[in-house]
Amino acid sequence: DNFNQYPLSQEILEALEGLGYKTPTGIQQEVITPMLAGKNVVVKAPTGSGKTAAFAIPICEGVWWEENAPQALVLEPTRELAVQVSEEMFHIGRKKRLKVPAVFGGFPIDKQIQTLRQKSHIVTGTPGRIMDHLGRESLKLDKVKWLVIDEADLMLDMGFIDEVKNILSLVPENCRISLFSATLGPEIRELADAFIPDRILVLQ
Ligand code: AMP
Repeated sequence: DNFNQYPLSQEILEALEGLGYKTPTGIQQEVITPMLAGKNVVVKAPTGSGKTAAFAIPICEGVWWEENAPQALVLEPTRELAVQVSEEMFHIGRKKRLKVPAVFGGFPIDKQIQTLRQKSHIVTGTPGRIMDHLGRESLKLDKVKWLVIDEADLMLDMGFIDEVKNILSLVPENCRISLFSATLGPEIRELADAFIPDRILVLQ
């Protein structure tokens, strides 16, 4: 098995080769095809399973360089994860020259506003700071085609449920929504029922 089996552009395949990703992990084998086809996925997968690339590959493939507004938003529970995922998406989108800024609390907002003013194809960030940018209109969601709720169980543990629901209610109608979590407890199933009724469930 290799990444050539997927309908991916040369730019993405070359970037994956550069990263040393030769064989898709189990989770990638289950997630890449439905996400490329525009399906919503709800995925139970632990860290270390390659789940970041599982959503990063189809999103980086689908993002259009010319568009001058963010096309994907990835919610993360912590600053560290926001930065880590932004870096992985940047590497996968490197040959397409995709810009992937991360926004998070505890850091001067003005600098983030300046960064967001430049071309931003994909934005990763923590829910509170994302809400802050939405309020200031330094971040707009009208072109967002993918929303990813990553580490959903941690997100709930950290008390971000209201912000997450708020952001979910603000994305455009046709936005694809995916959720990744190490566990899928009742609260997460409720969230998925409310906001992602049409979904493919992937259990690893
Ligand atoms: P994650 O579960 O997203 O935190 O990824 C765990 C680690 O696996 C990260 O260091 C990735 O860089 C790496 N990784 C992801 N996909 C692949 C792949 N297909 N082949 C080799 N390494 C990978």
